[in-house]
Amino acid sequence: MVDLFDNWIKNDRHQRLFEKAERIAKEAKAQVSRTDPEAVFSHRTLKVIKQEKYPSLTLSAAYGGEDLSLYEFLLLQEKIAEGDGSVALSIGWHLGIMKELKEDKLWRKNDFDRLAKEVAEEQKVVNRAATEPATGSPTRGGVPETKAVRNGDRYIITGRKTFTSMADHLDYYIVSAYVEDLDEIGWFLIDRHHPGLTVDKTWDTLGMRGTESDDLVLDGVEVNLSDLVERKSKEKPAPKGWLLHIPACYLGIATAARNDAIEFAQNFQPNSLDTPIAEVGHIQDKIGEMEWKLLQAHSFMYTVARKWDEEPDQRKQMGAELAAVKLAVTNTAAEVVDLAMRIAGGRGLSKQYPFEKYYRDVRAGLHNPPMDDAVVKMLAKQALSE
Ligand SMILES: Cc1cc2nc3c(=O)[nH]c(=O)nc-3n(C[C@H](O)[C@H](O)[C@H](O)COP(=O)(O)OP(=O)(O)OC[C@H]3O[C@@H](n4cnc5c(N)ncnc54)[C@H](O)[C@@H]3O)c2cc1C
Repeated sequence: MVDLFDNWIKNDRHQRLFEKAERIAKEAKAQVSRTDPEAVFSHRTLKVIKQEKYPSLTLSAAYGGEDLSLYEFLLLQEKIAEGDGSVALSIGWHLGIMKELKEDKLWRKNDFDRLAKEVAEEQKVVNRAATEPATGSPTRGGVPETKAVRNGDRYIITGRKTFTSMADHLDYYIVSAYVEDLDEIGWFLIDRHHPGLTVDKTWDTLGMRGTESDDLVLDGVEVNLSDLVERKSKEKPAPKGWLLHIPACYLGIATAARNDAIEFAQNFQPNSLDTPIAEVGHIQDKIGEMEWKLLQAHSFMYTVARKWDEEPDQRKQMGAELAAVKLAVTNTAAEVVDLAMRIAGGRGLSKQYPFEKYYRDVRAGLHNPPMDDAVVKMLAKQALSE
């Protein structure tokens, strides 16, 4: 079977970094029989992630990182997702956020330096806790109900965040809140051990169960004024290349489904045939369909990533292009997994095979940002603009 990654590993550096992702993917896959039924993120997988110094890879060399390009970031994330999509998505938030903070300089230098040092030296992991029951996806522009109220030289924060990936495993949360005295939305960096913070075990979804995306509850959490590390800009937000870790994740799941479906087709021989089903016309049609869809999705995603890396002056205009990659690749990934399920037949529904998990996991891609309707609207608006 052709390895689809061979096309995209271009040099020795890619190969060296890719081997880190391979080791993480192997460990992640080995844990799926527990993490998926129990809806938990594996401590052992996180240990391997840290041993590989994966959390610091998007930091610049000056901070002890590898300054991953967007292309490299996606390549590694896709490989991890081939092992387990949940692990890739969860750790992808961390790497992406560190890349964003470094490139967009969203924080005061001191605040970024402090966090980057801990990530580099101790492989600490962070994530943004943005989604809330009332706002739904923060990309829709809803104001957080989580509120930060000033009390002298402290802020007191109260609220509930949903969908916080890896919630119980993070070292820091970056929490969005309505900051009352400033009348604007801000972000607080809060240590996981801070009094008043608890993780409420609500995560019980159909797919991506291993992300352990529980609720984060803030009950009168008292922080310093300096913990307000970021304020929502009044300007239109800059396009976020790092968010392509989302399509990379779902593409990795689709690639795993494709590999397993081909292997199944090459080995399964019912007694009505004198060859494995891989020799049958309609199965070959489905394999061919998977191949062109995957080739198209990979080409689109990695071409746009390369443009992001090589033409930084174009980044400001790339919002619609990035969003189109998310929509196209995530939907294609779902189609590929569907084809793999059809190749496996009824066995694909059984927990004895990996297909039903791919089917559940890939579905979650629709509910990561940006959502399809928002992308279509953005593209139409751009097309109709003068
Ligand atoms: C596996 C997984 C991991 C995640 N990890 C994180 C994380 O680590 N941190 C985090 O903060 N979030 C995380 N999220 C949350 C994610 O970013 C979304 O906020 C969440 O999935 C809710 O999105 P939604 O579109 O279903 O919700 P809603 O925004 O509530 O939408 C519900 C429905 O209403 C429609 N709708 C709502 N508002 C509008 C509007 N203004 N205009 C038009 N239609 C609208 C939507 O299209 C949809 O049909 C994660 C989600 C998943 C699935």
